[in-house]
Amino acid sequence: MIEKKQRVRALGLCSGGLDSILAGMILKKQDIDVTWVSFETPFFTADKSARAARQTGIPLIKKDITDIYLAMLKNPPLGYGKHMNPCRDCHALMFKLAGDMMAQGNYDFLFSGEVAGQRPLSQTKPSLRYVEKQSGFDGLIIRPLSARVLPETDVEKRGLVDRSKLMDFSGRSRKPQIQLARELGIRDYPSPAGGCLLTDKNFSIRLKDLFNHDENVSHNDIHLLKFGRHIRLNETVKIIVGRTQADNQSVMKFHDPEKYAHLDVKDIGSPVILVPADIDNESLKMAAAISVGYTKTPEGQSADVVVTWKDRVEILRVKSIVSSTLRPLMLG
Ligand code: SF4
Repeated sequence: MIEKKQRVRALGLCSGGLDSILAGMILKKQDIDVTWVSFETPFFTADKSARAARQTGIPLIKKDITDIYLAMLKNPPLGYGKHMNPCRDCHALMFKLAGDMMAQGNYDFLFSGEVAGQRPLSQTKPSLRYVEKQSGFDGLIIRPLSARVLPETDVEKRGLVDRSKLMDFSGRSRKPQIQLARELGIRDYPSPAGGCLLTDKNFSIRLKDLFNHDENVSHNDIHLLKFGRHIRLNETVKIIVGRTQADNQSVMKFHDPEKYAHLDVKDIGSPVILVPADIDNESLKMAAAISVGYTKTPEGQSADVVVTWKDRVEILRVKSIVSSTLRPLMLG
């Protein structure tokens, strides 16, 4: 009996952007059984990828990699880009993790939507080579949008993919991708910018400060960087001040009573403020005064501030501090 040839199976990194979509579709057109994986951390989600999967019918695996990502992010071998984005080591890690899934899931090779020369640092040809080598899956990674301007991979040499049907895109122009999207009938795709908080200037200032002052960074600590004002009072004390009602709710959602106490001004609408659970008395009084300063209490007048610790509640009577004097202490 002649055994039916199994379809070639490919596992691709997906960001949900047009390049990811096109890379998957190009392989699909070669009758390759394509699956995407989208990794999640507090810095980026799989939301756009989920939309791309619905649109194309390509199955998507979502995987949270926060712990292993944080370990890399604290000390990326090639350092950071303009902000806290370690793009080359980020890609290398993602391909390494996808490669581990490749063996378990019986995939034949890995792919991504990267385009040679599209980004100044992370997608130069040497950067693409770095990622292949560092991932541990050299020869098993193809970039369908740029394959014909890159050296032939083992995947192509073995005939798993028809190289002649892959693309030769390179450089920063998006025109070839937009043209190809039109040919493939893809009309709905997100704009290329955005999506990763590590490329955001203000978020990066807060993250760097966190890494510099806290050896036990938790997932919640990172989520808290996204909300409110962050004010560093001194080397050991940073406080987080909700800016809006929605901020207050988010701050409380990620508030860990083991690590923080929270402050409210009694009987007046006030922002939620988080302070470290091991805060010293002087800093606590200052944080309380700041919380009064963010209410309608007239300047120089006192108010009661409720401090809620994990196991007790305390009330401090303090005078307000004018919030505009805090600007130099603010992070991001
Ligand atoms: S922008 Fe963010 S998700 Fe994308 S490669 Fe860089 S660090 Fe990774």
